[in-house]
Amino acid sequence: MGARVPILTYHKIAPITKGTIYPGTFVPPNLFEKHLRLLNRRGFASVSTSNLFDSGLENPILLTFDDGFQDFADNAWPLLQKHGFGALVFLVLNHIGGQNDWDIAVGDKPAPLMNLETIQELAKQGTQFGSHTLSHPRLANLDEEEQRREILAFPELSVNQLPTTCYPYGSYNETTLSIVRSSAIKYGFSTDKGLNDVTTDPVRLKRIAIRHDTSVSALIYKLWRGFRYDR
Ligand SMILES: [Zn+2]
Repeated sequence: MGARVPILTYHKIAPITKGTIYPGTFVPPNLFEKHLRLLNRRGFASVSTSNLFDSGLENPILLTFDDGFQDFADNAWPLLQKHGFGALVFLVLNHIGGQNDWDIAVGDKPAPLMNLETIQELAKQGTQFGSHTLSHPRLANLDEEEQRREILAFPELSVNQLPTTCYPYGSYNETTLSIVRSSAIKYGFSTDKGLNDVTTDPVRLKRIAIRHDTSVSALIYKLWRGFRYDR
């Protein structure tokens, strides 16, 4: 059946912004580096979405980064490269080069998003990119036509990348899944908990949420729980 693949969800790799309503979306760079050292010690190696379940790796792992914050380029990517890991970053396509307006709208602090030039440079260096929809809505609240518009758009990148999508807030319904299944999108990433293998629904991949308070021992526990209980 091949190895099971944990997929980790990160957002911002940065010190927690004072006054944020979402401290959980931050992981300070020094803690992130501790995570990477742990994954190295445990023998994990990054898989690409092009061979997610047939990499031949003994301990494959996929690190994902939602929203495309500038701190990915500034803080995360240098550490990932230093420790030999790859990344899959989900971009909010109408906000590239802008800021997290969907968070600001509910009272959160602004955070800059990577611009297209930065994204293209990182893509050349090996960062994988996927879509996080056009405007970061709760897809399950939208009608079918609106969902289609949000889902069936892709980042314009100079390098060929596999089409993947990630549901904002982990919100999806049957309509979402049928739109993704009948498109060229190979994988849909949810926030459902657990690990993945070839038997996992490819449009409903499961992930492990990483937060500001995910210490190294908490990460060990989350991975153990995933392998032991698939949650
Ligand atoms: Zn998001």
